[in-house]
Amino acid sequence: MTSEELSRNWHTVRTRIAGACAQAQRPADAVALVAVSKKQPAAAVRALYASGQRAFGESYVQEALAKQAELADLAIVWHFIGRVQANKTRALATQFAWVHGLADAVHAQRLHEQRPPELPPLNVCVQVNLSGEATKEGVMPEAVAPLLAQCAQLPRLRVRGLMTLPAPTADEHEQRRSFQALRQLRNQVATPDCALAELSMGMSDDLVAAIIEGATLVRIGTAIFGAR
Ligand SMILES: *Cc1c(COP(=O)(O)O)cnc(C)c1O
Repeated sequence: MTSEELSRNWHTVRTRIAGACAQAQRPADAVALVAVSKKQPAAAVRALYASGQRAFGESYVQEALAKQAELADLAIVWHFIGRVQANKTRALATQFAWVHGLADAVHAQRLHEQRPPELPPLNVCVQVNLSGEATKEGVMPEAVAPLLAQCAQLPRLRVRGLMTLPAPTADEHEQRRSFQALRQLRNQVATPDCALAELSMGMSDDLVAAIIEGATLVRIGTAIFGAR
């Protein structure tokens, strides 16, 4: 994809985000765009950065580290949106500003211990499994509050909100149902000390539904970079 095409896609996505914000009567800056660059070359990240994008999301640690090395001259805010694995927590704690898929107290403890003291606390979102499938990633809704209580003891983590990755569906009502469930869960488990202001939800095919239901971080890959 040329830089011009990338830039055009990026503007189109930003226009869709702004339109959804208007529809939901939310301010245009209520939603931050994380550009998901997994399986895309470093050159594409560099081109999009030149358009003004700063937050990039990666799902695979080895791939991300290679790209970060190539792009070390840029002030990118790196978000890890993949599955957290115990043997990768050190790379996450040292190389990323955000981890969206926290779902395990042991991982939380490791990220806390491994976050370098010279960096600000690691921003995390707790991933919630709203579909109830045992095979799906994320914690069950009833396990969110206990995990948050454990994270509250870990000052090197800053819990910013909740994240979900619903099963893909073209049915907008169904899309909205999961996103609404995440927002309602957030409203239930938020406390004065942990406001959980961020809702990381919405991808290329369901970003409008997510924004209508209160998303503050949308994670968009295909609609910007094309098919992987
Ligand atoms: C790949 C991925 C995305 C981006 O998906 P697109 O459909 O390409 O926009 C968002 N979130 C997560 C967790 C992903 O793994």
